[in-house]
Amino acid sequence: MSATDTTAPASNDLGATPASDTTRPGGLRPGRMETDRLARRIAVAEGRERKAITSPLTGEVIGEVPLGTAADVQAAMAECRRVQRRWALTPVKDRAAVLLRYHDLVLDHQDELLDLIQAENGKARVWAFEEIMDQAITARYYARLAPRALRPTPRLTAMPGLINTKEHHVPKGIVGVISPWNYPLVLSTSDALAALVAGNGIVIKPDSQTPFTALRAFELLQEAGLPEGLVQIVTGPGTEVGSAIIDNADYVMFTGSTETGRAIAQQAARRLVGFSAELGGKNPMIVTSDVELDRAVETATMGCFANTGQLCISIERIYVDQTIASAFTNRMAARVNALTLGAQQEYGPEVGALASKAQLDKMREHIDDAVAKGARVVAGGNPRPDLGPFFHEPTVLAEVTPEMTVHREETFGPLVSIYPVQSVDEAIELANDTDYGLNSSVLCGDVKKGKAIAARLMSGTVNVNDGYSSGWASIDAPMGGMKTSGVGRRHGREGLLKYTEPQTIAVRSPLADKVMSAGDDAAGFAKRFTSILKAAKHLPR
Ligand code: NAD
Repeated sequence: MSATDTTAPASNDLGATPASDTTRPGGLRPGRMETDRLARRIAVAEGRERKAITSPLTGEVIGEVPLGTAADVQAAMAECRRVQRRWALTPVKDRAAVLLRYHDLVLDHQDELLDLIQAENGKARVWAFEEIMDQAITARYYARLAPRALRPTPRLTAMPGLINTKEHHVPKGIVGVISPWNYPLVLSTSDALAALVAGNGIVIKPDSQTPFTALRAFELLQEAGLPEGLVQIVTGPGTEVGSAIIDNADYVMFTGSTETGRAIAQQAARRLVGFSAELGGKNPMIVTSDVELDRAVETATMGCFANTGQLCISIERIYVDQTIASAFTNRMAARVNALTLGAQQEYGPEVGALASKAQLDKMREHIDDAVAKGARVVAGGNPRPDLGPFFHEPTVLAEVTPEMTVHREETFGPLVSIYPVQSVDEAIELANDTDYGLNSSVLCGDVKKGKAIAARLMSGTVNVNDGYSSGWASIDAPMGGMKTSGVGRRHGREGLLKYTEPQTIAVRSPLADKVMSAGDDAAGFAKRFTSILKAAKHLPR
């Protein structure tokens, strides 16, 4: 496991940043002046208690945010609703144009966004760039799709020509977005882009640890033409601010753990408002005997350790054909041990820091429990406090058994277990033996065989010869979880139309009055209508 130099600051010089400078020499970007400026955009009343935001890269305080209350959420909702009424009347093509301008702004401002993502999440820059790509792809996709998908569509009626009907898509109103910390840009903004172009307003609670990326992204959206006030950002505890959002929004988009997802589902159900939940996973990969070994090892390594393994769709279990299990494990161990770790805010390191002490503790618990019960560490295995407070080596385990916590529980960190299997059938059975169903992967030589295996896996996405990115990049296809991994889908038409209420507008023509009214001759009406129904059955549609 190699480590590149870190950029740990000499001290936490809060407030000492020169006014003209947004970087602290030797410290993290952006400087305190920029995060203080962004924090002023938060929709929380003056005088609330504040929380310091610490960078997992270095342990340095990078800014602070106010802890909002239910009253702040209610005020934000009222302002958002006022602006949303006008936004809903804005032509879809004009709303879409905002997304296309945002697309350009994100690409133009990528360096500062990358700095923010790294500073508050700790990931390596290459994985922060994944977030930039996602924003551009999502903005362009929904800008192009929305005018077509939201156009009123003629629908068949029982009496074609006599009743003329169109299906409309009415915005829900206010979409409450509650997002986690692992993709500070994607998970706060991508779902919001679809909701906004559909005509909604947004009240969002980004995770308390990663608020600044979301603040900057929505500022860029405003620069792109989004009306001021249409997006309200409220920071604070999930149990208070998140809960108040669910109590007031017209639809809830939640991304986070399965446990919190259950609580949110219950609360939304009580109000009879819709919700979409993207939750946890314990994602399997199946490696068949006919793979090209080096390619399989590289794909598996990236599928497990991208984004420091803090990725809902990353791989935590590998089922490999026993005939190649030993060679695969040895080569993967060598590749994982060669991964570079580092805290630089520049391209280079392949693995960054874990996002928090809680994440580091969970990683340690899973490894220590497994090793105490007989598992073998074949790569990594150690924390790396020399690089930063929450660094840990990407780790590969073998000989993992069902009584170990890591066998079934999501680690949500850079930890994977390799299991040899006797057959493809056994691999499929073990892969499906989980309460989760978010993502899975099949690595194979014969793609036809791989697709057949994929069709037998119970997960919302299956990647053939990839870990996760092909499924995510399939922006026109639905993405989400089966079983306890989620409710609803993001991406594709579904990811847009869920933010609307379908509304049927049916217009009756004067001619219908003659054909469709019983008048005072109900028996004649019934006879006439029976003939029409019989004839209708012979029509092609
Ligand atoms: P979490 O559920 O603890 O928190 C997610 C968000 O919910 C945070 O903003 C939090 O403040 C808020 N929250 C917490 N309790 C709440 C409540 N009672 N009411 C309303 N909001 C509340 O999840 P986490 O630990 O921050 O994120 C990691 C989890 O998220 C993992 O399980 C991971 O698999 C999952 N995840 C899923 C996806 C996906 O697309 N399926 C993407 C990223 C992360």
